[in-house]
Amino acid sequence: MAVDRMLPTDEARELIELTRDIADKVLEPRVAESEKTGVFPEGVFPALGAAGLLSLPYPEEFGGGEQPYEVYLQVLEEIASRWAAIAVAVSVHGLSCHPLFTYGTDDQKRQWLETMLSGETIGAYSLSEAHAGSDAAALRCRATPVDGGYTLNGTKAWITNGGRADFYTLFARTGEGSRGISCFLVPADTEGLSFGKPEEKMGLRAVPTTTAAYDAAFLPAERRIGEEGQGLSIAFSALDAGRLGIAAVATGVAQRALDEAVAYAKEREAFGRRIIDHQGLGFVLADMAAAVDTARATYLDAARRRDAGLPYSRQASVAKLVATDAAMKVTTDAVQVFGGFGYTQDFPVERYMREAKVMQIFEGTNQIQRLVIARHLADS
Ligand SMILES: Cc1cc2nc3c(=O)[nH]c(=O)nc-3n(C[C@H](O)[C@H](O)[C@H](O)COP(=O)(O)OP(=O)(O)OC[C@H]3O[C@@H](n4cnc5c(N)ncnc54)[C@H](O)[C@@H]3O)c2cc1C
Repeated sequence: MAVDRMLPTDEARELIELTRDIADKVLEPRVAESEKTGVFPEGVFPALGAAGLLSLPYPEEFGGGEQPYEVYLQVLEEIASRWAAIAVAVSVHGLSCHPLFTYGTDDQKRQWLETMLSGETIGAYSLSEAHAGSDAAALRCRATPVDGGYTLNGTKAWITNGGRADFYTLFARTGEGSRGISCFLVPADTEGLSFGKPEEKMGLRAVPTTTAAYDAAFLPAERRIGEEGQGLSIAFSALDAGRLGIAAVATGVAQRALDEAVAYAKEREAFGRRIIDHQGLGFVLADMAAAVDTARATYLDAARRRDAGLPYSRQASVAKLVATDAAMKVTTDAVQVFGGFGYTQDFPVERYMREAKVMQIFEGTNQIQRLVIARHLADS
């Protein structure tokens, strides 16, 4: 059932319609097979890019869609309700453009941003390492200053779009401690850069997650974004926006699970009535609906603060926490509504449950979101 959205403009309404149309024609026919086989869906990103859906929150000046974040996130939610892995990849692409857009010089933006936002390329965000996820400041990948630039050495991990992206927003060490990290924009064809084989994941199987090895890879100095040592604050500022993307994706998955569960509960009969008419089951569905609405409300609240230029870091963490916990609960309950059939691959709800799980883990685990929120409370 299509969500009846409150949207700020006619243009935004058209954008949602366009997204639903592309989802019907491009995403829905391929999602089940692609997620089952783990085969990357060639042609899907170019289709989204051609429709302008890969660069919605960025200014027109650089080829973006100049949409408010509250609209961009609702588009992302629509994509996620059809195909979570693609929505995550789109969100990560947006995240990977954020450092150049926010911290790049005019020259750097003129040189690279338009291509990155053109819809013909896709980006990746490379902060984590195998031993440094929550504790990102412990990363070891090193960028050593040399004549004309840096030599990169080390191994990054968990890169969404790894091996498929055209550019990598990389965080590497140029000094010691948390102030010794810098941000770089690395083209995929950099000599000395190679990728591991995709992780065998529980869900989101159609989009690869890989390691990346840098072996004496040379990067020109002009590809450093921001100042030396500014990397960690760049990474965290990008993550505030990225977490809202994940909150919207989680809401889309939860909405879809709810829709499937309601449709099933209206058809399935037990004890001579539709199962939705058994109050015990109706209440499960009611709680699921309340959780989905709450998830959407929290991410929209944070997005509207961002659009208004207000601080939104705490609200972004609240949205990520609330929406991804909601997605886990709602998708688990959807499996319950389907009974035994819910536990089989004949119905998609088991996939939604597998997809929801990772959303409590990446872009800061939900323990880390609580840490961020608690720090805001302590500092207020
Ligand atoms: C499918 C997938 C895609 C990903 N994509 C990307 C990507 O594109 N780019 C990228 O950079 N990274 C990516 N990641 C990495 C992801 O962000 C990390 O996995 C995540 O931040 C957790 O880090 P970790 O796995 O090292 O777990 P750890 O940091 O080892 O945490 C293990 C457990 O300890 C808990 N914990 C740790 N510290 C604390 C604390 N201080 N207080 C309370 N509990 C704590 C955690 O919440 C967790 O439950 C991806 C991961 C996955 C699984």
